[in-house]
Amino acid sequence: MLDTGTAMNVKLIAYTPQPELVSAMAATLTHTKTKPEELQQVKKKDLQKVLPYVMKLGHTSVVEHASFTFAISDVSRALTHQLVRHRIASYSQQSQRYVNLTEPSYVVPPSIMKSKKMKKAYDETMGLIWEQYNNLLKLGIPAEDARYVLPNATCTNIMVTMNARSLLNFFELRCCLHAQWEIRQCANKMLGEVRKIAPLIFKDAGPTCKTRRTCPENKKSCPLYPK
Ligand SMILES: Cc1cc2nc3c(=O)[nH]c(=O)nc-3n(C[C@H](O)[C@H](O)[C@H](O)COP(=O)(O)OP(=O)(O)OC[C@H]3O[C@@H](n4cnc5c(N)ncnc54)[C@H](O)[C@@H]3O)c2cc1C
Repeated sequence: MLDTGTAMNVKLIAYTPQPELVSAMAATLTHTKTKPEELQQVKKKDLQKVLPYVMKLGHTSVVEHASFTFAISDVSRALTHQLVRHRIASYSQQSQRYVNLTEPSYVVPPSIMKSKKMKKAYDETMGLIWEQYNNLLKLGIPAEDARYVLPNATCTNIMVTMNARSLLNFFELRCCLHAQWEIRQCANKMLGEVRKIAPLIFKDAGPTCKTRRTCPENKKSCPLYPK
C-alpha cells in the first residue's frame, strides 16, 4: 500500500521563553543606562510600544534573541532542499544513509492529484522506483547508494530552528505566491504557529507585498500585487 498525500505536519516544539520580552529588553538596553538584568521588569505597556517602534525603524537585530524550533514531517525532499537554503538557521534531517526507506512514502503535488489518470501514472512510477530501491538493498547495495534512485517527492522529516529575524526574512520569501506551493504551505503554517506566541513580532510578517508593499517579481497579475 502506497503512503501518499500532502498532509504535512508543522509543529512549533520549543521557543525562547518570553520571546517578546527578551527582544524588548534588547531594544531598551540600547537606549538606557540600566543594566540588562534589571530590564526584566519592563512593563507590558512599554514592551508593546518599544518592539513595534524599533522594528519599524528596521532595528530588527533585537529579535534575533528569540528563537523558534519546528518539527516538520511528511514533507518532500523537494521542500527541504529549498528550506535548507536558508542559512541563518539550524537543521537536523532524517538520514537516507542510516534509515532504509523500504516502504513507499512520497508527496503528491495538488496538480497531479487533480487528475485520476495523472495520479495513477504517478503512483505507478513511484511503485517502480521503490521496487528498484528495495532490489538494490536486497543485492547488498548500501542505503547511501540505493537512495540515488529515490525521487524529490520522497517524504522526509526535519527539525529547524530559526531566530525571529531569520524567520521574518523566510516569511517574506516563502509566503509569497511566487514561492513553490509546498514550501509556501509550510511557511504559512510556521507563521501561524509563531504568531500565536509572539504577535508583536509576527503580526505584520508575510510576503514583501505585505511587509514592504513591493513585489520582487513585479507581477501585476498576482492577486496580492500592492495596489
Ligand atoms: C521564489 C524563489 C525562487 C528561488 N529560485 C532559486 C533558484 O532558481 N536557484 C537557486 O539557487 N536558489 C533559488 N532560490 C533560493 C534563494 O536564492 C535563497 O538562497 C533562499 O531563498 C535563501 O534566502 P536568504 O539567502 O535570504 O536566506 P538566508 O541564507 O537565511 O540568509 C538571510 C540573509 O542573511 C544574509 N546573508 C546570508 N548569507 C550571506 C552571505 N554569504 N553573504 C552575504 N549575506 C548573507 C542575506 O542578507 C540574506 O538575505 C529561490 C528563492 C525563492 C524565494
